[in-house]
Order: sequence, then structure tokens, then C-alpha cells
Amino acid sequence: MTRYIDVTDLSRLVARKGLSTCISEMAEYIREDYLRWHDFEKCPRLANHSPDGVIELMPVSDRNLYAFKYVNGHPKNTQRGMLTVMAFGALGDVDTGAPVLLSEMTLTTAIRTAATSALAARYLARPDSRRMALIGNGSQSEFQALAFHALLGIDEIRLYDLDPKASAKLVANLRAFPELRVSIAGSVAEAVRGADIVTTVTADKAFATILTPDMIEPGMHLNAVGGDCPGKTELHRDIVDRARVIVEYEPQSRVEGEIQQMPADSPTTEFWQVVNGQAPGRESADQVTLFDSVGFALEDYSALRYVFDVAKALNIGHELALVPELANPKDLFAVLRQPLADTRKKSA
Ligand code: NAD
Repeated sequence: MTRYIDVTDLSRLVARKGLSTCISEMAEYIREDYLRWHDFEKCPRLANHSPDGVIELMPVSDRNLYAFKYVNGHPKNTQRGMLTVMAFGALGDVDTGAPVLLSEMTLTTAIRTAATSALAARYLARPDSRRMALIGNGSQSEFQALAFHALLGIDEIRLYDLDPKASAKLVANLRAFPELRVSIAGSVAEAVRGADIVTTVTADKAFATILTPDMIEPGMHLNAVGGDCPGKTELHRDIVDRARVIVEYEPQSRVEGEIQQMPADSPTTEFWQVVNGQAPGRESADQVTLFDSVGFALEDYSALRYVFDVAKALNIGHELALVPELANPKDLFAVLRQPLADTRKKSA
């Protein structure tokens, strides 16, 4: 049987554990897997583009588990009352190929992206960082705010979004976390002034220039999350040129990240090298660091591994007959002779 985690199951899982705990524990799973970088068979994700968006498949595997995620990015979807980013994914047993988990991954992606951002910032931001600017206040933003509070102790956040309703929504949702001081700025420049960390998580299928060089102060860490497709960037090229740039997986980031604006041999470091101590993170207090995040399949592998472990421990999810289980494995036809019993019972 395949364990099936739908959106309700995942939100129950998060409610049982607490969101900050989920973010912190998932970040640890991601760190563990980045430490095992060479155990994984990796490739850039496969992207199918259309005028208003992209649908991507993200596979990765090690000796034990195969993972994939289906994810879209359609920035105009919110005008139709739909999410910009929606996702689901699966884990398979490498020895047999049997699917062991089928899971929602829209919420899971928001948690894993925030966990990855904050994990990277632990190596790249100044340790005394307390103030963050958060540009783009849509679906990912609450998760980013809470991850940086949980993993780095960020307690002051300045928001900016072209859509004032998005910022008002974020303020309202963060009211449940009074330890965070949150305010709305009148412009990107105002939000960024004096920040230790700047997170950009905007959605637009275009080369955008959310941050310009005049906004960047010595010692800032830039967490660029929203530029994740060919033709979709958030930072002025000169910022990328001057910063210490860390990417997840260079073959994918060259096509999708902020570094698509740079020559093919521009200096970058892959995050796994920083995690295992092979390369430095931040090199000095006044260096500008850039985590050029696009989202890599390994993070989804870690996220699915985490969801699977917690779901089993808390007995959350359903048992799903996704593939036939037969008395005689050479007799697939038997399924048609005698339809299997309806096994769609809830396990919790
Ligand atoms: P969303 O549509 O819910 O929110 C995006 C927000 O950005 C909107 O509120 C919009 O008004 C705002 N925005 C657009 N242009 C802006 C600008 N020029 N200045 C200020 N605000 C602007 O989308 P979301 O789900 O929050 O995702 C945000 C982005 O993050 C998307 O581009 C998505 O593809 C990307 N993303 C990246 C990763 C990763 O791993 N790197 C993971 C998930 C999502």
C-alpha cells in the first residue's frame, strides 16, 4: 500500500508538530541530505514552458529512495483565484520501484523552501542578524518569516509588496506571533534600508529588478527566492556580479537562477560545499552574500522523507491502492476478473 497525504493530512501533521518545529526539523533533514551530496543521482529539473507559466518535474534518488515533485509556477493564477505555485510528489522504494508515499507538496514546498532559505542563511548571514526585509508578501512569505525567526532569531521584519492587500494579509497572519515586530514599508528601498537580510520572493514571469545596487549595504545577506525560471530574475546584474554567490545545483541554477544574467564561468559555489566545510560561507562581516535559490529536487527528497517519517510516527494519512498487490504477481488480469476491495480507508 502507498501512504497518501492530502492537504488536510499535511495541515493536521503541521498542527500536531507546530510549524516552527516542522521548519527546524525539515531544515535538519535537508542539511543531512546536502552532507550526502555524492550519494544522489541528480539532474536539472525538466521544465515545460507556456506563455503564462511553467510545469516542472523534479526527480532525484539515492540507494534507497527515489523522489519526484510536480510543481507549477503561474504568476497570473492569483487573478483567477488560484495559487501561483501548486505541487504534489512521491517517494518510491529503489529496490522494488514500489511507490511508498504520494503526498501533497504545496504546503510542503513552502515549508521546505523557507527551511532551505533559513538553513543557507545560517552559513551566509552575519550571526548578529536581527532585521529582515521581506519583498513579495504572497503564499511563501509567512513561511519565510517564521523560518528566519526559528533558525536565525530574526525578530523585526519590514514588508513590501506591490499589492498592499498581500502585505495586510501577511501582517494579519503574523499577528499570532507577537515575538515578531512587523511593519509595512512604502517602497522596496525603504524596506531594505538597514536590513541584515533581504528576502525577495516575488512572482512575475519577467526579468524584474526588485533590488538595485544602491539599496545594498555592506554585510547584507540576500535570499533571492522568486527568480527561478529562464527569463525570471529579481536582482540587478551588478548585485550578482559583486556578491559571494551560493547556488544549490549549478547546472540548474545557470539556466534558472539570478546567475542566468552572468557569463557561464562566473564564480559560484554550490551549497553542499559550504555545508560540508569544503568552501567558506560568509568570508567577512561586510561581504554581501547571495543565496541564489531556485529550489532543487534534493530539498524535496528531504521534505518527503520528513513528511513520511512524521506521518508514520503520528499515524497520519490514508492507505492507497495506487498499484495492484496480487496473490500471483504474474496475473495482473486478476484485478479485472475480481475488482479489488475498496481499500480507501483512513489510517487515522
Ligand atoms: P504569490 O503569487 O502568492 O506571491 C507573489 C507576490 O509577489 C504577490 O503578492 C505579488 O504582488 C508580489 N510581487 C510581484 N512583483 C512584485 C514586485 N515587483 N515588487 C513587489 N512585490 C511583487 O507567489 P508565491 O507562492 O509566494 O511565490 C513567490 C515566488 O517564489 C514565485 O516566483 C515562485 O516561483 C517562487 N518560489 C521559489 C521557490 C524556490 O525554491 N526558490 C519555491 C517556491 C516558490
